[in-house]
Amino acid sequence: MSHCLSERSIDHVVLERGEVANTWRNERWDSLRLLTPNWQSRLPGFGYSGDDPDGYRTVPEVIDFIANYAKAIAAPVQTRTIVSSVRRSDTGYLVHTDQGAWRCRTIVLASGACNKSSVPAFADRVPPSIATVTAQQYRNPGQLADGGVLVVGASASGTQIACEVHRSGRPVTLSVGEHIRAPRVYRGKDLQWWMDATGLLNERYDQVEDIARARRVPSLQLAGTADRSTLDLNALTGIGVKLVGRIAGITEDGRAQFAGSLRNMCALSDLKMGRLLNLIDEWAKENGFDDAVESPHRPPPTLVEKSPPLDMDLKSGELKTIIWATGYRPDYSWLDVPVLDRKGMIRHDGGVVASPGMYLMGIQFLRRRKSSLIDGAGDDARDLSAHLASYLDTLRAA
Ligand SMILES: Cc1cc2nc3c(=O)[nH]c(=O)nc-3n(C[C@H](O)[C@H](O)[C@H](O)COP(=O)(O)OP(=O)(O)OC[C@H]3O[C@@H](n4cnc5c(N)ncnc54)[C@H](O)[C@@H]3O)c2cc1C
Repeated sequence: MSHCLSERSIDHVVLERGEVANTWRNERWDSLRLLTPNWQSRLPGFGYSGDDPDGYRTVPEVIDFIANYAKAIAAPVQTRTIVSSVRRSDTGYLVHTDQGAWRCRTIVLASGACNKSSVPAFADRVPPSIATVTAQQYRNPGQLADGGVLVVGASASGTQIACEVHRSGRPVTLSVGEHIRAPRVYRGKDLQWWMDATGLLNERYDQVEDIARARRVPSLQLAGTADRSTLDLNALTGIGVKLVGRIAGITEDGRAQFAGSLRNMCALSDLKMGRLLNLIDEWAKENGFDDAVESPHRPPPTLVEKSPPLDMDLKSGELKTIIWATGYRPDYSWLDVPVLDRKGMIRHDGGVVASPGMYLMGIQFLRRRKSSLIDGAGDDARDLSAHLASYLDTLRAA
């Protein structure tokens, strides 16, 4: 957004509570690599120029990439500045920070979609003998006690953490709710390449049937590894991870209860993956790619044991840690403008917030399916900066 505002000669400042790329410095686990290939992290005027376009960036590489971009575009970032409140004023907005106040006619909320961990309300029933960690707090297996680990959530964060923790010698049980299975490589090409080429990632918020639902869809079960392997539930059970259903509650006497829907969840996920692969095959055929890539194939169905356990005694001593990989949510506790819905999410139309001169960035399916990816920021910023510029023109004319 800063780049797009500069291109339009719109005077602006970027307020950041930490350093540039703060979330990548402080809120990711050590071994994480982007699940999007290197070629796919495209920011306006700044793409990948290395010799490994199909590789996946490590966290230090992502930090360098974003910090280098901020330098290259001379973004006017004021770091170590915590925004503590944003209010409407006569001329626009009044922004209070721990480094003084700012007045502005327009404001772009780009404070991230993943500030807090979403943890179920019954988490406070976990017996005190068990340590709990969120995916945001998890760094590496070394921070966990020896012994069993229950990872709750089987999307990108949960599956990656479950794999790493299990390989460290701590037996992992994975609690599986709704998830989206996806092969890392399909017909010889990265899944993200297909998602990009078919136009799926560019699908717009006003073209999908149920945008509220599309904004809640969990992340694809993908991981960025050197061998480009698929990290689905079959890969995890293959190394010994046990699967249980979605965690439904914890009883007062310390038993975790799991839904009996594991088979259905997995069957549904297999079905959705099949639909995605069908769509890719159709696109390949229609666009003359069939002979250029490998033949279509389907991964085997997800294997689920006949009667997965429906509960687990959290006090037996076997389980030492629970890792909540149950999703993330934004934090707008500093926003004193009445634009939140009853779930605490900002009401907006493709990033144009229901308050004059206020814009939103970086939220799932904000304007396009790719909006919450690094690769999605550019197109959204172009669109929203155009809207912002015309809003300023209107103000000037008035
Ligand atoms: C575990 C994980 C893995 C991911 N993997 C990928 C991936 O492989 N590929 C990909 O493209 N995307 C990935 N993403 C999504 C990724 O986070 C986004 O693409 C990108 O970081 C979004 O950038 P952003 O600037 O919108 O938000 P953020 O990176 O969250 O940045 C928001 C910034 O706002 C600052 N801030 C927040 N509140 C305040 C305040 N009150 N005052 C001042 N500053 C404030 C924060 O410090 C932060 O620096 C991943 C996300 C997570 C959580």
